[in-house]
Amino acid sequence: MQTIKVAVAGANGRMGQEVVKMLGTDEQLIYVGAVDTRGSDEEVNAQLAGLKPDVLVDFTTPHHVYRNMELALAHGIRPVVGTTGLSPEQLKELATRFQEAQLGAIIAPNFAIGAILCMKFAAMAAKYMPHVEIIELHHDRKLDAPSGTALKTAELIAQARQSFRQGHPEEEELIPGARGAGYDGFRIHSVRLPGLIAHQEVLFGATGQTLSIRHDSISRESFMPGVNLAIKAVMNLDRLVYGLEHLLD
Ligand code: NAP
Repeated sequence: MQTIKVAVAGANGRMGQEVVKMLGTDEQLIYVGAVDTRGSDEEVNAQLAGLKPDVLVDFTTPHHVYRNMELALAHGIRPVVGTTGLSPEQLKELATRFQEAQLGAIIAPNFAIGAILCMKFAAMAAKYMPHVEIIELHHDRKLDAPSGTALKTAELIAQARQSFRQGHPEEEELIPGARGAGYDGFRIHSVRLPGLIAHQEVLFGATGQTLSIRHDSISRESFMPGVNLAIKAVMNLDRLVYGLEHLLD
């Protein structure tokens, strides 16, 4: 059995702590230490060169994740990224750069299998019930809105249905933002409250009926089987993969 050396950026955070715990339960995965990329280039390069990880797991913030991907690329380390908030342009550019370097990388806006299924079922339903709204609900420490999962779900729905603008053409918001964010003619609503972890409901409406597809992560352990799978899968990739669903089929 080939062991895999794993470093974690954001190891003291809510997700990072869960990752370190998970690494300790799998003898194939060797936790080599925490990486903090907020220092100077010199300091960060010394950390990475010292730890020599095969994989860098990133659960930091939308402000740091792009630089962390660049650092991983520069050191030939394969990143497994759960941090959300990268823009579509950044994702495209990173995909090109990892492809050129023939280095494996995985970015997954959601590592929970149930959330992947929620996205897939929503895309299936959108073909037949094109009137849809997404409500995502997260804890109030989350920095980005809408969530990466909601954006990915929206992208899949937009691919599955004919594009059109929903709602009354003369609809008016009495308070700006009341109808949520617009995405290809439908709406995404973001709820932030203490006590929540990560939840999403995709609501469909048609004449005389509605359909709700809902996923709830009620503990951060829900993400760990996906992170474990991604760490092992990234070792066999030579490009960037966006979304855990590409590793499941
Ligand atoms: P968190 O508790 O705030 O943890 C982030 C940690 O990163 C903090 O400990 C912070 O340190 C550290 N940090 C910030 N910049 C860093 C850097 N450049 N290098 C090293 N460490 C750094 O946040 P969280 O709830 O764990 O979430 C982290 C990210 O994961 C968010 O983007 C969230 O949306 C995402 N997420 C993804 C999934 C998924 O399945 N893909 C699931 C849940 C969450 P300090 O405390 O010292 O500032």
